[in-house]
Amino acid sequence: MISTIATPHQILESVFGYTEFRHNQEEIITHLLKGKDAVVLMPTGGGKSLCYQVPALCLPGVTIVVSPLIALMKDQVDALVLSGVKAAFLNSTQSGGEQSFILQQLRSNELKLLYVAPERLVGGEIQFLRFLQDIPVSLFAIDEAHCISQWGHDFRPEYRVLSQLKEKFPSVPIIALTATADALTKKDIIEQLHVTDYRVFENSFNRPNIYYYVKPKKGYYDSLVDYLEEHKDDSGIIYCLSRLATEKLAEDLRADGYSAAAYHAGLEKNIRDERQDLFLKDDIKIMVATIAFGMGINKSNVRFVVHADLPKNIEGYYQETGRAGRDGLHSEAVLFYGAGDVMKLKNFAQVENNPDQTQILLKKLDQMVQLCETRSCRRKYLLNYFGEEAAGYCGSCDNCLHKPELQDSTVTAQKILSTVYRINQSFGMRYVVDILKGSNSEKIRAEHKKLSVYGIGKDKPKEEWMHYLKELLHYGYLQQSDGEYPVIKLTEKSKPVLFEKAQVFLSAPVQVSIAKEPVIYQQYDYEKGLFEELKQLRNKIAHEENVPAYLIFSDSTLLDLATYLPLLKTDLPKISGFGAFKIERYGATFLEKIREYCSDHSLTTRIELKQTTRTKKASVPRERASDTKKISYDMYRSGKTIAEIAAERQFAITTIETHLSYYITTGDLDVNEFVSFDKQDLIEQAAIRFGRLSLKLIKDNLPENISYMEIRMMVAHLNKETA
Ligand code: ADP
Ligand code: ZN
Repeated sequence: MISTIATPHQILESVFGYTEFRHNQEEIITHLLKGKDAVVLMPTGGGKSLCYQVPALCLPGVTIVVSPLIALMKDQVDALVLSGVKAAFLNSTQSGGEQSFILQQLRSNELKLLYVAPERLVGGEIQFLRFLQDIPVSLFAIDEAHCISQWGHDFRPEYRVLSQLKEKFPSVPIIALTATADALTKKDIIEQLHVTDYRVFENSFNRPNIYYYVKPKKGYYDSLVDYLEEHKDDSGIIYCLSRLATEKLAEDLRADGYSAAAYHAGLEKNIRDERQDLFLKDDIKIMVATIAFGMGINKSNVRFVVHADLPKNIEGYYQETGRAGRDGLHSEAVLFYGAGDVMKLKNFAQVENNPDQTQILLKKLDQMVQLCETRSCRRKYLLNYFGEEAAGYCGSCDNCLHKPELQDSTVTAQKILSTVYRINQSFGMRYVVDILKGSNSEKIRAEHKKLSVYGIGKDKPKEEWMHYLKELLHYGYLQQSDGEYPVIKLTEKSKPVLFEKAQVFLSAPVQVSIAKEPVIYQQYDYEKGLFEELKQLRNKIAHEENVPAYLIFSDSTLLDLATYLPLLKTDLPKISGFGAFKIERYGATFLEKIREYCSDHSLTTRIELKQTTRTKKASVPRERASDTKKISYDMYRSGKTIAEIAAERQFAITTIETHLSYYITTGDLDVNEFVSFDKQDLIEQAAIRFGRLSLKLIKDNLPENISYMEIRMMVAHLNKETA
């Protein structure tokens, strides 16, 4: 065991202001503090940085962080300095003077973390590795470790110098971190770094706070604008396939009044840097970009990622959507999918003189298409793709949120199945639809134009017929052959429909509606007005200090403030993201704003509702009902109304409702006391459709006369049933 100057928990709470480690952060840190090496695979936003930042502060010397991305380096260092940590970076953008100042600080052991670009390790006037041998280095952290591997998608030759670390610093532990590594890359990282006493830490790649939606590409601009209109205050990225498309879309959006800019590799570097900076500072809300944008963007409050064009493969799609919601709050991934894009990408996938490579690219494209076409849970599809097991229902993708009701579609099915039968089961989907529609196209064979089924489907638009065809495929009434020109065939299941009048139930075609309000992944409601005011306050400070707003506080910290309304300095350590340094530096300013808001809106603190995850996990609901809830309950039982209790206790009515709803989950109170039968039904249906996380979302989708109180109580009742 190496000697330490503080425990990981002390550092987590006092410096970073968090109460709990996430995933296996704690295990990783403990492992490193034993002097051993670690290879960490964690999804974007999982919290990789803390895995080396916490040990860096527990250990006596300096931690050297190797990172390939200069923009990210500065961001990380700014964030650390804002939390009172002595950190710096060394890279080619600095003057000689700046660099020697940092070397001086290193010699006198004044820095806890130093970020360096890999080329700086070898190049420069002095041999940097040699220099490091004379100072107390505690730990090496290799960020984006897949860059060391030729098998990774982002090989950087400079990373090869890292192979020398183990030999030159045999007693200094190494931690290698990446968000993308297949088995081959993983093996390569281990070999190249020569780690010996190491452990590999893997995590689920699931990003539960990202909701996945696929929408039709046809007429997508209007649908995109509707979407953006509902996310006016949010920051997001829209990915397009070509440089030209980004420019055009950004221009259209600007003309429609949105704060959008284009970003692609064809722009001059200073323009790219400037736009990126404006985006990071929330001065540009929407970045319309090619995939050149995003690598190394650490912005934690990206609320949505839209794919205006189909990505080429799932790896890219997942990496790009992964840039949303690093702060753990509700975020959305929306993909506009249309057959035209598939054709275009099929052409791009043709690699000249390399049929094997072409085959691989086509297969990957096909898997992407399947993700869009699937009728079952998209999250499950994604996780399975990455080799993880997953339940069939996630409740947070369009397919799960929208379980369509099945309707008797026997006649429609008969029309389609007889068409397939009449054309001898030898044509593709589009051909079948063309026959149904009675198309005049020359592609339709003359003899088929004489069939009785020719034109029997004029009553429905093409898209609807396509929808029903897919439904029949989905439910096994039809099958599709493999190969480049798939053909539609009948199955065992279709015969009774054709010949015995068996009934068929299918879902009707519907537009998927996207949640209007961001669904905040949280137990309690928050003060929306205050949340906006706190954001503005944060922006003001960010501009004064010239750093991106999310580095001052993440959205989730502001959300905590707007939920629990701390009024005293002693409340602040309970708020996630308020470390000791930030409490001193910003506490008073934020408290003042909250106090002002509370007095204007006759609210009082709800800090007593704030439990750390630790106490939540440990508590047994029935026995540990905190006293404040119990007081409200007893008062209610003594015959007082909610309003009376709120007035007497000087709490918001919603607080008392929350107290009482707790006793519904324990079974001490009955939902029937609060909600009439007919309303119970309506609320339950909405809760099934929209999930139970956001009362607001449920409220917005119910008649006016159903109150938040009724929804809150009913949701508590449903939670009890499923507990
Ligand atoms: P990654 O590098 O894996 O993409 P980061 O290290 O940037 O992720 O972490 C993502 C976000 O999660 C950051 O805002 C970070 O402060 C926050 N975070 C990390 N660990 C915790 C934790 N234990 N509790 C609360 N927030 C955390
Ligand atoms: Zn799902």
